[in-house]
Amino acid sequence: VVQFKGVNKWYDSYHALRDINLEVARGEKVVVCGPSGSGKSTMIRCINRLEEHHEGQIIVDGVEVADDIRKIEQIRRDVGMVFQGINLFMHLNVMDNLTLAPIYVNKTPKHEAEAYARQLLARVGLADQAEKYPGQLSGGQQQRVAIVRALMSRPKVLLFDEPTSALDPEMIKEVLQVMTELAEEGITMIVVTHEMGFARKMADLVVFMDAGRIVEAAPPEEFFSNPKSERARQFLSQII
Ligand code: ATP
Ligand code: MG
Repeated sequence: VVQFKGVNKWYDSYHALRDINLEVARGEKVVVCGPSGSGKSTMIRCINRLEEHHEGQIIVDGVEVADDIRKIEQIRRDVGMVFQGINLFMHLNVMDNLTLAPIYVNKTPKHEAEAYARQLLARVGLADQAEKYPGQLSGGQQQRVAIVRALMSRPKVLLFDEPTSALDPEMIKEVLQVMTELAEEGITMIVVTHEMGFARKMADLVVFMDAGRIVEAAPPEEFFSNPKSERARQFLSQII
């Protein structure tokens, strides 16, 4: 569903992505890890054009990510994103956070958007929180609402950028639980995380990045037991 072919990106003169090649098939779960500044966020943000790449191709479900507003809108419907920290509009209640884009951007009828939102909230254990404001929820609950918001457009791919790194351990567990359930349902996921337990259990492929390159890409059994590069070995010894 997502393909990177020889992708390069610069921030001014800084070469942030170097010859990225990656194919994520339908239903696959890919975990991306690597040291701070290695280009993980940049890589996944290029998928829905939150960042622009300069060389090579990124293709999402057959549509090339390029400077074309129609294509970008299509891709943003197909690709849901959840990131670290506050994802929600604090002045809107949960229901409005969830239904704003579907109603105003995608022109979904209000009752339909609300019914779907309630169905998804129930799935993440938040059926009774629809009228609350984000400030009245715990961090873990907020992040589960953010996941529901990403699901509202029935995306083909979900991107996560360190969704649990700002949370307390107890809340990390409940967010990982929801992510695990989604993974088990078969949705395609690309997850930047240092939660290696999740990677071991759910990933089909672990991608290790360093200095803008993909240094290793291997199934978790292989990556964790026998990392090929010194850099990956070092990284693993620091975080496990
Ligand atoms: P972290 O683990 O800290 O989130 P990361 O792997 O996600 O790191 P990126 O955020 O993708 O790394 O950043 C890759 C490199 O690009 C870093 O050196 C960073 O300083 C640089 N960079 C990122 N965003 C910008 C920007 N908007 N302008 C200039 N440089 C940037
Ligand atoms: Mg990052």
